[in-house]
Amino acid sequence: MIKGDGIGPEIIEQAVRVLDCTAGKFGFTMNYVPMDLGGCSIDKYGVPLTDDTIAQAKTCDAVLMGSIGGDPKTSPWYRLDPKKRPEAGLLGIRKALGLFANLRFSVLYDDLMDACPLREDIAREGIDFVILRELTGGLYFGEKKTETVGGEEVATDVLSYSESEIRRIAVKAFDSAMLRRKKLTLVDKANVLESSRLWRKVVGEMAKDYPEVDVDYMYVDNAAMQLVRRPSQFDVVLTENMFGDILSDEASMVVGSIGMQPSASLAEGSFGLYEPSHGSAPDIAGQDRANPLATILSAACMLRYSLGEEEAACAVERAVMDVLKLFRTPDLKSENDNTAVVGTARMGECVAEAVRNQK
Ligand code: NAD
Repeated sequence: MIKGDGIGPEIIEQAVRVLDCTAGKFGFTMNYVPMDLGGCSIDKYGVPLTDDTIAQAKTCDAVLMGSIGGDPKTSPWYRLDPKKRPEAGLLGIRKALGLFANLRFSVLYDDLMDACPLREDIAREGIDFVILRELTGGLYFGEKKTETVGGEEVATDVLSYSESEIRRIAVKAFDSAMLRRKKLTLVDKANVLESSRLWRKVVGEMAKDYPEVDVDYMYVDNAAMQLVRRPSQFDVVLTENMFGDILSDEASMVVGSIGMQPSASLAEGSFGLYEPSHGSAPDIAGQDRANPLATILSAACMLRYSLGEEEAACAVERAVMDVLKLFRTPDLKSENDNTAVVGTARMGECVAEAVRNQK
């Protein structure tokens, strides 16, 4: 358990409250190992990530994280060398734990239709998809160089993927599809990129082992359009690192509310790191105003993907939907809903109560 900085401790406290209540109801026990990462680690140890944190994380089944970082304009952490800033801790822990698949979930809840910037008829078709982005390969990690050729500078970034890199994330995508609506869309640029053609070949071969999963292929430029034109067509979207980087930010906007988006970063096996998609919101830290739902929903993902507690995960997700009918944190409140505004702690209590009261 990494509380982190800013609103991190407040939102993690609520996720733990909901997890404990859920564990009690479904007959298992959660054991938490507190670990430091980011700004709070800099304050204590002078570095954003210690070997001790890595070692402790490796002894656990999963890591649940709040968020890290401070206000880059005012926080002393941002006067440090970039390698010693809070975000370096996040990159470091991802690498140390071998997290190669990032999952960002985009769900539009009926009661939050107002938050969606798309036309109502499009939103009403329903939005519930996950983007699986490869995290450790591709253009961002390929060989890079700038050289002088024929009297001018030439910059090169290599985009390369091996079959095994593609296969290990594709397994996660097929397995996710099996837990969901059994539809998988591979997003690539196979009309021009050799690496994309390898993605298609590997995924096409693997599809034979998952006969129940309906697989389709889409070029990334079309996918960028389809995400806003008809997002209801997507269930699991699998894509390489850079395309995933861009599309997952577009996807956050499609459902509107940043306080509602969970994410998971998975390693081989069942290990994963779970965190909300938003940052540490230093502007509202310590004010009991933060929306803890993205963190609570990240905890539900952890129950599903790392702890094998599918029923408990569904119970938490249902509880969140139930609570939204009656209560909202300030970021979700709109003029024309009849819900009551509650703070971070009360929202956590409401979700825990809703889990407890489920039949
Ligand atoms: P941010 O997501 O923290 O905040 C953007 C806006 O959304 C702010 O107005 C904030 O108040 C609001 N907001 C965010 N989460 C909210 C929540 N749960 N409830 C209610 N409102 C919420 O992004 P930022 O301001 O660009 O970044 C702040 C810090 O967070 C920076 O140090 C940044 O590097 C860090 N960050 C960390 C992560 C991470 O831990 N994975 C991700 C993104 C940003």
